[in-house]
Amino acid sequence: MTIPSQTASPEQTSLAAAAILEECRLIASMSEEPGRITRRFLTPPVSQVYARLRSQMLEVGMTVSVDSAGNLRGLWQPKGAGPRRMVLGSHIDTVPDAGAYDGVLGVVMAIELARQAVANSLPLAIEIIAFSEEEGVRFGVPFLGSRAVAGRFDPALLALRDAEGVSLNQAILDFGLDPGGLPQAQIGEDTIGFLEIHIEQGPVLEAENLSLGVVTGIVGQTRCELQFLGHANHAGTTPMTLRHDALAAAAEWICAVEEIARRPVLNPPLLGDHAEAALVATVGKVATHPNAANVIPGAVHVSLDVRAAHDAVREEAVAELLEKASSIAMRRGIECESKRLMDQPAVPMDEQLTAVLAECVEAAGLPVRRMPSGAGHDAMVLGTRLPAAMLFLQSPGGVSHHPNESVRPHDIDTALTVGSLFLRRLALKIV
Ligand SMILES: [Zn+2]
Repeated sequence: MTIPSQTASPEQTSLAAAAILEECRLIASMSEEPGRITRRFLTPPVSQVYARLRSQMLEVGMTVSVDSAGNLRGLWQPKGAGPRRMVLGSHIDTVPDAGAYDGVLGVVMAIELARQAVANSLPLAIEIIAFSEEEGVRFGVPFLGSRAVAGRFDPALLALRDAEGVSLNQAILDFGLDPGGLPQAQIGEDTIGFLEIHIEQGPVLEAENLSLGVVTGIVGQTRCELQFLGHANHAGTTPMTLRHDALAAAAEWICAVEEIARRPVLNPPLLGDHAEAALVATVGKVATHPNAANVIPGAVHVSLDVRAAHDAVREEAVAELLEKASSIAMRRGIECESKRLMDQPAVPMDEQLTAVLAECVEAAGLPVRRMPSGAGHDAMVLGTRLPAAMLFLQSPGGVSHHPNESVRPHDIDTALTVGSLFLRRLALKIV
């Protein structure tokens, strides 16, 4: 494969981009379900994918192994270079009826970047990790692969069971691996950092007609459950002035959630340049009781999901939204109760490594669009252990976790250019 030395125009996509797209589509055919892309943790198609990736890593000259968490790992150690390695990778498992690029693209591109590095005699050790599990589909817990690499795999997880009753411990054994070796899956101290290349899975880059985004961090998330408790009563005999309608209160509050989350004043100058992505708040679930056409709703359960790149912004918004719910309920003479189900702090990407990545985007002649990631990624887990950075490629139509997921060849070319510059700069820095 040949790699362009400069950013290609949309009409001049390289053979490398075409080959990467073809490779992703071929891997997509390795599925648990005919006609759909479904590849859960350590299911038979994973062996097929590994056979394919292993031969490519061997072709590059890498030493290849599978660790006890089922991650496929390739190491390139150039002669004369120090042992400090840069890790590249992403995940190869999928959600049911997935697209062909979420995760896999980052692995296939990493192999291409290693191929270039070897061809150019880059004096930098490179490890590629194809993470075995990120989506959490088979055992209901995500990031099993990257937890092991980050040294954060809780052995209690081995008791988890999938829908067929197979334990996680047994799944690892069935794949020919030894769960006792999990501690050895942990990444060594001689690691420079981790770069994950991934599709954006959202509409921002396309809306701004950009190829690439530099991820500033993975957003933090709070989930709450609220109950509005009014009085159910006859819809015909109860005058409007004497009602305590729980659904009307919830509806007023849902509109307030949207209004408050859209308010620019909540967004301070943030890691990213663009304030609009700083806070999102969603009410996605509503259950009304008794849910009858001729009864005033007596009780309503609603969900609240709040995400932000800054924990302080999220905390402040959650407090304001819960306060708003109480004040609406009080004015309407009903009760409101809330419960926090989850509080997950934001994980910032490493400042220095991200600065190098941004320099490379600039050096490739592209605008640097810093943005938080609204979804979790392996880089979020590895970022708790070592410097991590992420590069997003545009997701056409903002579509992901869907068979219509796609990637533009031109964006693959620009990402390869940036990735190649990035590895070259790191090699210079550690010499
Ligand atoms: Zn992914």
